[in-house]
Amino acid sequence: MNSASSGRDGNNDPDTSTGGRGLGLNSRILIGLGAGVLVGLILRAIAADWVDVWLVEGGFQIAGQLFINGLQMLVVPLVLVSLITGVSALGDPSRLGRLGGKSILLYLLTTGIAVSLALFAGLVVRPGEGVELNTDTTFTAEEAPSLTEVIIQLVPKNPISAMAEGNMLPIIVFALLIGIAITMAGSAGERTRRFFDDFNVVIMKLVTIVMHFAPYGVFALIARMSYSLGGEVFANLAVYIALVLAMLLVQMLVTYPLLLLLFARLQPLQFLSKMRSAWLFAFSTASSNATIPVTMTTLEKRIGVHNSVASFTVPLGATINMDGTAIMQGIATAFIAQAYGVDLTLGQYLTVILMVIMASIGAAGVPGVGIILLATVLKQVGLPVEGIAMILGVDRILDMARTAVNITGDAMVSTVVAKSENELDIDIYNDPDAGIEQAHTQ
Ligand code: ASP
Repeated sequence: MNSASSGRDGNNDPDTSTGGRGLGLNSRILIGLGAGVLVGLILRAIAADWVDVWLVEGGFQIAGQLFINGLQMLVVPLVLVSLITGVSALGDPSRLGRLGGKSILLYLLTTGIAVSLALFAGLVVRPGEGVELNTDTTFTAEEAPSLTEVIIQLVPKNPISAMAEGNMLPIIVFALLIGIAITMAGSAGERTRRFFDDFNVVIMKLVTIVMHFAPYGVFALIARMSYSLGGEVFANLAVYIALVLAMLLVQMLVTYPLLLLLFARLQPLQFLSKMRSAWLFAFSTASSNATIPVTMTTLEKRIGVHNSVASFTVPLGATINMDGTAIMQGIATAFIAQAYGVDLTLGQYLTVILMVIMASIGAAGVPGVGIILLATVLKQVGLPVEGIAMILGVDRILDMARTAVNITGDAMVSTVVAKSENELDIDIYNDPDAGIEQAHTQ
């Protein structure tokens, strides 16, 4: 496989995540985000019924949800078609095993680093010390899927129902198998492969179309959020919030760049600067799953990862790799233990690390899932699950920030794996403008 064809197979149309008329899409999304914060706060000050009924719960909710639906609509078809195309391009199934092995190991490693750093920071800063226990809000734990269930469901009894439910791991397995079968099916396989290659180009086109609505969608989502989040809830938890945000930054600006340098000898600033538009999507949707189309486009068009790697590592990462979530869980565990005056033993800390790594494996990257997983972690070390109520009020904003870290981890691992497999187009990687085209050239 020639790495120079990265992300452009069968597609002469360099449409990108950053196309736009005049101002780039990135800038327009940023304007949407800023305007959203501002309008939300102004409406909050007005505090009229019509604002609530017509704007926040009416227009903003509809526009924001339509945008998220639009992104989610793409996820299953994109993962399926793109992965089938990717695997049939790989040709040799044994390469697939290597790809899978490397990415799973790196995903576990980055999550392990994230939760260990977070627990350490929680122990040093002690954000839960002296915090008043809050008994007003209650929290009932939902069950996270057990590892046994996740493993059994890896092979879907019914692929259509896995797709209908958006269950990423069984969809990945199904697509992998179809891709492998295509490579073994002679001329019928070749015809099928060509069909999926073309279908992939069409779906990527649809991704660009949906992304052009992003500035409006982001505006509506952020306006609604800043309207409904009051400043009061933050005051009590300032240290917790600051610590989670600080550790998210450490993961993003120290851990990932170091790993990129160490494992792939790549210039990290280039990588980080190309991730900006994906961050905006992750931040406003708080969902790694919904951001899959954007992460994939960014990796292929802007960073130079070949589709045969990105189509596999991105959906896999959105499901099994949640470094930002692991950071929140590490700090939240320390916070809740301290607030309840419980001293965890070394063995319990190790259990937390293991549980955080395992828990994220079966959970989809959707808003708020980190909190459900946290309940499983707390139960395992005997901490009160109701403690979660204390941090629930500020979780949405942290969810947005940690989702940006989650997808950056997915993209970093994809880049490292692609480099090691000679599937990274280094010219695209080093070109700051790669993949940036104006929409009117399409
Ligand atoms: N919202 C996060 C994601 O989609 C998961 C979480 O931390 O709740 O990656």
